[in-house]
Amino acid sequence: NGFEDFYLKRELLMGIFEAGFEKPSPIQEEAIPIALAGRDILARAKNGTGKTAAFTIPALQQVNPKLGKIQALILVPTRELALQTSQVCRTLGKHLGINVMVTTGGTTLKDDIIRLNESVHVLVGTPGRVLDLAGKNVVDFSECPMFIMDEADKLLSPDFTPIIEQLLAHFPPDRQILLFSATFPLLVKSFMDKHLNKPYEINL
Ligand code: AMP
Repeated sequence: NGFEDFYLKRELLMGIFEAGFEKPSPIQEEAIPIALAGRDILARAKNGTGKTAAFTIPALQQVNPKLGKIQALILVPTRELALQTSQVCRTLGKHLGINVMVTTGGTTLKDDIIRLNESVHVLVGTPGRVLDLAGKNVVDFSECPMFIMDEADKLLSPDFTPIIEQLLAHFPPDRQILLFSATFPLLVKSFMDKHLNKPYEINL
């Protein structure tokens, strides 16, 4: 199987091939069609398996660049991972005409508010800062269709979990959740049971 078989937008396929990806990795092969079909996913996958593209490609595919609003939120535990993930989004989405923004504790809120005045299609950030922006009504997730968590085992710590649940409450009830995690601790399992809708589980 190849990336052509996913019926992706031509511009997205170009970005994928220009990134040097020739064929999908096993996690991509399994996750991409399921995510494109709109299902929630819980994927247990380690770093280095190509998991970033496994959730970035479906997110980019469903973004409509003509809509001036956030259409996917990608939550990660650290600023470094946020920067890396945003870079993957920009590389793969290079020809889509979309804006990707990073928001973490490392920038001032005021700068973020200014940057958000331009249309942002994909937001990558850490939970505290994103909730800050949502709470101040600087970002509106009420019609955002996609909620993604990478390194969910790190995100869903006792401290972070309430923040993430508050954030999720800003999303529409039919939002799609993609959850990627290296391990499957109890907090991830209870989050899944509570918030994911008949998730498709991937174990690699
Ligand atoms: P990740 O697991 O997302 O951190 O990705 C690990 C590395 O694999 C990164 O350097 C990616 O650029 C690369 N990669 C991801 N998917 C593919 C693919 N389908 N073909 C070749 N390289 C890939």
